[in-house]
Amino acid sequence: MRIGALEAGGTKMVCAVGDETGAVLERVKIPTTAPEETIAAMLDWFREKEIAALGIGCFGPVDLRPGSETYGYITTTPKPGWAWCDMAGAFQRALQVPVGFDTDVNASVLGEVTYGQAKGLQTVLYLTVGTGIGLGIYINGALHHGILHPEGGHVLLTVHPKDTWKCRCPYHPNCLEGLACGPAIEERWGAKAEMLAQRPEVWELEANYIAQALVDYICVLAPEKIILGGGVMQQRQLFPLIRSEVERLLNHYLAAPELQQLETYIVPASLQGDQGIMGCLRLGALAWEKDRKGEHYGRA
Ligand code: ADP
Ligand code: ZN
Repeated sequence: MRIGALEAGGTKMVCAVGDETGAVLERVKIPTTAPEETIAAMLDWFREKEIAALGIGCFGPVDLRPGSETYGYITTTPKPGWAWCDMAGAFQRALQVPVGFDTDVNASVLGEVTYGQAKGLQTVLYLTVGTGIGLGIYINGALHHGILHPEGGHVLLTVHPKDTWKCRCPYHPNCLEGLACGPAIEERWGAKAEMLAQRPEVWELEANYIAQALVDYICVLAPEKIILGGGVMQQRQLFPLIRSEVERLLNHYLAAPELQQLETYIVPASLQGDQGIMGCLRLGALAWEKDRKGEHYGRA
């Protein structure tokens, strides 16, 4: 079956066609400009592709409440033009196929549990550390939404005593995203994160902040694996630093065997950057299955 996949980001849209094995057959990147222009370009691309369903992993915040009037919308984003944009509806109406819709990070965790290193696991987290920080939660075999969807980038942390820089989140003086996203690193240290590889103090502080959040996630959700992706995590030296900070902060409190083996517990994404788009393929396949069974998805 030909399935469409759309990884919708604030700077670019990745559109792809693939199948239920996770194989990506073709893809295109479209810059994110005004919604009318960007959506029209994506629809032009997908219209020719004869897809049976579409999965969208979208930047947020988004409305995922089944039955909500604004299900499938991007909601309160500060990104100009995109607030209250009906993403799922635009594709559903134009392409007349079932549309699966979720956050970008939920798509990534779904990609990893369906096709990647987390196959067979029931409770897995995916944290992206990039322009923003987002958390995808797959719990007891399903993606988690709750009242909105998880906003794991905004958990509150203890600011490091040596860190005098002001958190860049407009809502919180001490949240993970405001202290540790790529632009926060850039502002604090005066250079793009990718240029700071040789500065150990940058990564020690970054690892401390990420580890504080992971410890909270571990204590609350008891995941079987935590996957870290996004541009900042390309600094591979972060992994051992984060693992040792997690060990130090947990202080041997939890006795699970997984926590004795942090090299296989806190890991980089395993699908060569395709965890998101492959997760979107799975979202499309799931929407197709629901539709075939006559189940409601999305708006009532
Ligand atoms: P986005 O979050 O916009 O989808 P990314 O995940 O690539 O995209 O995140 C972009 C952020 O990651 C920027 O702040 C950039 O400086 C940072 N970044 C990108 N590549 C690297 C790298 N190799 N090392 C460290 N930081 C990086
Ligand atoms: Zn915040």
